[in-house]
Amino acid sequence: MVRLIFLGPPGAGKGTQAQTLAQHWEIPHISTGDILRSAVAQKTELGQKAQSYMDRGELVPDQLMLDLVRDRLSQPDSASGWILDGFPRTVVQASFLDALLQEMGQSCGAVINFEVPDEVLVERLLGRGRKDDTKEVIQHRLVVYHQQTAPLIDFYRDRKLLLSVDGNRSVEAVTAELSQCFQVI
Ligand code: AMP
Repeated sequence: MVRLIFLGPPGAGKGTQAQTLAQHWEIPHISTGDILRSAVAQKTELGQKAQSYMDRGELVPDQLMLDLVRDRLSQPDSASGWILDGFPRTVVQASFLDALLQEMGQSCGAVINFEVPDEVLVERLLGRGRKDDTKEVIQHRLVVYHQQTAPLIDFYRDRKLLLSVDGNRSVEAVTAELSQCFQVI
């Protein structure tokens, strides 16, 4: 059973890798950013609450995220495994996930930490052209990452779950390393 958390700054390649590997392993790729963007597009209540935070490059409040993830992990397809991409992003979210998984009788197999230097991230994000990929918002998302999400590296290292990969390589090289690490029959 593959249950992985992809951790790393915006632009580190988590989404690209998660999409490829989840397809390969036939498990859901759970991207909280994608779920939120679709809620914004559909103008749901969640989307309306989340939009201004996303546009500014701030994190959406934990309580909204916890409900979203609880719902998503309770869907039947999540029983076959999952890759969480972009969640957790705060220590509060990580502690909640710990408790939720325990409650569900599940556990996370590993946390993959994608390492990419900030200057490479800025270049990549500027090239991506998403609504929240303007220079100002990118800088802010990196500050938010270092302040609020980077502490999760130690959080998961202490739990002996952390595996760091060099994300500053070709997409193919990173995919090859990850699929070798988590070979499933
Ligand atoms: P992403 O696609 O993962 O870069 O997420 C895009 C935006 O969605 C982020 O800048 C946040 O505003 C919001 N977001 C996604 N995941 C989370 C999360 N786990 N906690 C708080 N906000 C999130």
